[in-house]
This record gives sequence, structure tokens and C-alpha cells, in this order.
Amino acid sequence: MTLQVLAQVSLKPFNSFGIDVRAQWFAEARSDADVREALAYATAQSLPLLVIGGGSNLLLTQDIQALVLRMATQGVRVLQDDGVNVVVEAEAGEAWHPFVVWTLEHGFCGLENLSLIPGTVGAAPMQNIGAYGVEIKDVFAGLTALDRHTGELRDFSLQECNFAYRDSLFKHETGRWLILRVRFALSRARHLKLDYGPVQQRLAGQGITEATPSDVSRAICSIRREKLPDPAELGNAGSFFKNPLVSHVLAAELKAQYPDLVAYPQADGQMKLAAGWLIDKAGWKGFRDGDAGVHKLQALVLVNYGAATGHDIANLALRIQRDIAERFKVDLEMEPNQY
Ligand SMILES: Cc1cc2nc3c(=O)[nH]c(=O)nc-3n(C[C@H](O)[C@H](O)[C@H](O)COP(=O)(O)OP(=O)(O)OC[C@H]3O[C@@H](n4cnc5c(N)ncnc54)[C@H](O)[C@@H]3O)c2cc1C
Repeated sequence: MTLQVLAQVSLKPFNSFGIDVRAQWFAEARSDADVREALAYATAQSLPLLVIGGGSNLLLTQDIQALVLRMATQGVRVLQDDGVNVVVEAEAGEAWHPFVVWTLEHGFCGLENLSLIPGTVGAAPMQNIGAYGVEIKDVFAGLTALDRHTGELRDFSLQECNFAYRDSLFKHETGRWLILRVRFALSRARHLKLDYGPVQQRLAGQGITEATPSDVSRAICSIRREKLPDPAELGNAGSFFKNPLVSHVLAAELKAQYPDLVAYPQADGQMKLAAGWLIDKAGWKGFRDGDAGVHKLQALVLVNYGAATGHDIANLALRIQRDIAERFKVDLEMEPNQY
């Protein structure tokens, strides 16, 4: 047995909110064999198994009566290379941003807009991570997951993952699929996605007219560092609510009342509203109750000033959800996974 299972481990260092709950049992998987051992251990002890990566999309509201398995598998490889297009595979436990940097250093374009997102490669497909106009579905070439029900490995294609805005099949079939490795279709040719004004402005401000993927990555890193609190300094899980999709009719009603409403038309006729705008408009930005609060610059980011519990954060979230529903008739859905 190579897997080390520890009892009563504080999860404070393993979640970006910095919430201090305990795992009844805790282990780190460094290989597929470790993963299988953890599954066998949990089954033998009749324990639930909770798989985590970097803990940057978790809201922990109680001690976890389970075996918590942190994915720490490592490895990145080029599977296919025709001189222009490449398929790169990374193990689930690889940290996301260093992996993005690795692809850029090898001259592979595609992941630059997703720079500096915290977390691991294995969790990235869970909510189809996205930023600055790109989601992983746009560069996704497949993944291998372990079916926890049968113990069999299964390869998933793009279509099979049902990716949508902050959503995938894996979010719905929770507890079934343990993602072991993910593949990305990248390219040496430049196909930069520069639709976002702030990215264009940052590049222009630096006098860059012919941006490289690394220039875009650096610009996005600097914008993100200015905009978002660093979880190492102030506990948070990034955007706490998804941007809500509403009917065209409701969006038009709101626009009539609030001319500065931020709304984006969607292909299916719905409108996507900026959740941060709604929360800001309702006056929550900078609100603090004990150690739970709404970030003073980013209304979409709930923060832990130190000793907030998961319940404190969840209660604050509920107050915001109720207020937004009352004021705007819009339901806000939480983004982090609550346990
Ligand atoms: C400051 C900050 C900024 C952020 N910015 C963005 C952003 O721009 N865009 C965005 O999309 N997200 C963003 N996030 C959210 C978060 O970084 C992503 O969702 C990230 O992919 C979570 O990865 P993780 O490894 O930390 O997952 P965890 O938080 O550890 O886990 C998340 C979920 O995935 C499950 N899981 C984890 N690994 C596996 C696996 N190998 N197999 C099966 N299930 C697994 C867990 O059980 C849990 O349900 C941000 C978070 C922070 C703190």
C-alpha cells in the first residue's frame, strides 16, 4: 500500500476560502494506482469519497465525514504533433496555470486566455472553466475518467461532456466520474481571441500591435491580479455566482428601469446578465458581516476575512440571492461546489 491515509486533517490549506473544517480521512493520489487504492479503501470502510483538486471552487460548510482524496498526479505530454496542430495531455493533479505557461513556452496557442485561473487540470472540465471569451470546450480534445461505479476507464469526446456555461456532464453526475487526465487541441498557428476590450487596451497601452499568445497571457495575468483578490491573502473562490440567463422580456423590462444594465444576447434568444452588476446595484459591494463579506472592488466575489465559517459565507450568499430575486426577479445560482 503506497497511499497514506491520514485521520482528522484540517482542510484549511486545501480550500481557497481558507475555511477550517476537518476531513475524517485524507489522502493524496500521485498515480492511478493510488486512486484505485483510495477507492478500495473507501469501499472497504463504507466511506464516501470526495475528490478535490486545488480547492478553489469549494464551499465547505461542515466537517467532511468521508475520505477526501486530493489529486496530486503529475505529468504533461504531447500526444500528437503534425508541425502545426498538437494534442497535449496533462494529468489531473497538474496545477492549471503552470500547465498553461508550459504550453505557451512550447509555442502552443489556445490556453492563453485561461491564464491564472487557480486549480487543477482535472477539475477544469467540471465547470468548463472560462475567462476572457474562451472556455475549455473551445480547445478540448478529450479526457479519461474512472467510472467509480464500475472501476472501468472511459474516454470522453467533446460531444459526450455536454459542456455549457460553467457546466458539464460531470457536474450533474457527481460522484461517478473521477477525471484522471485531460487532452487539449492546441496550435502553433496564432488564433488569438481578443474580443475583450480590457485585454486590447492593456496590449495597446504596452505598445503591442502584433500580440503573441504569451503577450496575451501576461496582459490577462496583470488584469486579473488587479481585479481579483489573491486567495493566499484573502480567502475567496473567485466568482461566487454564475451570470444568470433570463428571458428577453425580463431583460427588456430591467433595461427600461435600469438603462445601465449589463446584458449580453445569447444564441438561444436568452440574455445573460452580469451578476456582479446586479449585486453592485443592490448595494452589496464592500458589505461585511463578521468575517464574511463581499469584496470591495468585485461584487461577484465573496470573501473570508479570516475566521468566517462555510455557514457564514452560505448565509451571506442566501441574503444576496433573496435580495436580488426581490429587486430584479432574477435567481442567482451559486458557482462553487458546496459540501
Ligand atoms: C481567485 C479565483 C479566480 C477564479 N477565476 C475563475 C475563472 O476565471 N473562470 C472559472 O471558470 N473559474 C474560476 N475560478 C474557479 C476555480 O478556479 C475553477 O473552477 C477551477 O477549475 C477549480 O479547480 P480546483 O482544482 O481548485 O477544483 P476543486 O475546487 O478542488 O474542485 C471543484 C469540483 O471539482 C471536483 N473535482 C476536482 N477534481 C476532480 C477530478 N480530478 N475528478 C472529478 N472531480 C473533480 C470536486 O469534487 C469539486 O466538486 C476562480 C477561483 C478563484 C479562487
